[in-house]
Amino acid sequence: MSAQILDGKKFSETLRKDIAGRVGALTRQGMQPGLAVILVGNDPASEIYVRNKENGCAEVGIHSESIRMPENTSQEALEAEIERLNADDRIHGILVQLPLPAHLDESAALAKILPEKDVDGFHLINAGRMMNGEKGVEACTPKGALYMIRQTGIDLNGKDAVIIGRSNIVGKPMAMLLLRENCTVTVCHSRTRNLAEHTRRADILVAAVGRAGLVTADMVKPGAVVIDVGINRVNGKVCGDVDFEAVKEVAGWITPVPGGVGKMTITMLLENTAEAAERKLALCTEARK
Ligand code: NAD
Repeated sequence: MSAQILDGKKFSETLRKDIAGRVGALTRQGMQPGLAVILVGNDPASEIYVRNKENGCAEVGIHSESIRMPENTSQEALEAEIERLNADDRIHGILVQLPLPAHLDESAALAKILPEKDVDGFHLINAGRMMNGEKGVEACTPKGALYMIRQTGIDLNGKDAVIIGRSNIVGKPMAMLLLRENCTVTVCHSRTRNLAEHTRRADILVAAVGRAGLVTADMVKPGAVVIDVGINRVNGKVCGDVDFEAVKEVAGWITPVPGGVGKMTITMLLENTAEAAERKLALCTEARK
């Protein structure tokens, strides 16, 4: 039997209606959420992501600012821009579009963002909170992926979750979130031996590598939840890391690419921005008491 499709577009529609309601309520109280995106250089893929973020903001009523800086921007200039946005009361979320040009220090730049304005969840404080199982800003892609996994309705307690990829922005935070859900988590990576032996045990399989066709049908446990985070371009067409057509005949649930995790990532960014404004409003209300 063919797998059920976890439709990121459909989930996003429902979620964005809810976010738009929250944004409306905040705006009526004088706290319209604001998101600033800094893009350094002119990477065409990054340009598309930034445009999608602008469109998402417009859809739910979030004020958005895109700051485009030239390829040869210095570290000082980038950090000065972040400081300016840290101090701007109209901005509740700051996102530095990655990757940055090679001469720039990504970690140092991300560390400059105030943790409460770090809507990507990449700041060490937020990453640390997630590691400790404390409340903080959750990274958008793993947060969106977990939302989709939850929509299957399966009990996650004790399930075997296998993640392929160990990046700080997807693989590692995904592992933390699934651990929090009481899964038994295995993280595979480029040096993992016998990848298929691990993946075949997975009740939940998350692929976050960036290699088209990496996950084939024989690597998937029948009935598994397969979450494809990968974004690849093959012959001008966007596809994930999973051989979708073959794997959907084995898996119980599967996310498509496009229309899967990518759509959810932006929706989670909008939610994180609304949440940041809600936290700010609560602080202001508390201070007035
Ligand atoms: P990355 O390059 O930082 O990490 C890739 C990981 O894959 C590494 O940990 C590496 O060890 C592992 N890897 C490489 N080759 C492997 C192999 N043969 N077997 C097993 N593991 C292997 O990438 P990233 O930033 O984590 O992104 C991963 C993919 O997800 C990319 O395609 C990226 O475009 C995509 N992505 C999608 C979204 C989204 O919203 N859908 C968000 C972020 C990243």
